[in-house]
Amino acid sequence: MDIKANLEAVKKTFKSEDCLLVAVSKTKPLEDLKTAYEAGIRDFGENKVQELQVKQPEMPEDVNWHMIGHLQSNKVKFIAPFVYLIHGVDSFKLLREINKQGKKIDRRINVLLQMHIAEEETKFGFDKLELDEMLSNPDFLSLSHVKIQGLMGMATFTENKDQVRKEFRSLKTLFEELKSRTLPDFVQLEDISMGMSGDYLIAQEEGSTMVRIGSAIFGGRS
Ligand SMILES: *Cc1c(COP(=O)(O)O)cnc(C)c1O
Repeated sequence: MDIKANLEAVKKTFKSEDCLLVAVSKTKPLEDLKTAYEAGIRDFGENKVQELQVKQPEMPEDVNWHMIGHLQSNKVKFIAPFVYLIHGVDSFKLLREINKQGKKIDRRINVLLQMHIAEEETKFGFDKLELDEMLSNPDFLSLSHVKIQGLMGMATFTENKDQVRKEFRSLKTLFEELKSRTLPDFVQLEDISMGMSGDYLIAQEEGSTMVRIGSAIFGGRS
């Protein structure tokens, strides 16, 4: 795998210069991360707490660590001190736990709310009703150590590009709708994390500000 060449090739196809490339390095050895770092990558995405804990101390301090996978509440404390952005917040319970751990160490933790936009049942995320319930819960107002920076979503795993586009578009529409509401100060909707190796171009066309790309950079995972 020529990681540097892959990175260049991926970057060249980008539809927007402002879209952040999060290099998804899960399962990959440190040397691969270092190669990407040397090529200018500062944002790395991992989906396991334990792997983040192992890799973080071995990489330069200026790396931004993105937790992109499903996060269990009981593991938040392990990444709270250093995580840059948690993409997959999919319940009020998890959000409250992140707030609690942030409070303990006096750190405001950046998060994205994961929305369920795919047809597949298996993917995590809030549906609109659950989101509205959380936003109207009085306890929501008392969160003091999180910043909700945007939304994240994963499209259905399908060859059907129209379907993928439709799902990304629904996330963008929801994002705009939320932005037009009056929400507490710690909600500052700036980012839409959508798009992976197979669908990031469609995601960018539909307004993605962050793409999470793994295999197109580091090669397939076994
Ligand atoms: C693994 C993963 C990615 C990257 O997938 P690729 O298809 O390898 O680009 C993106 N987002 C999430 C949530 C992932 O778990």
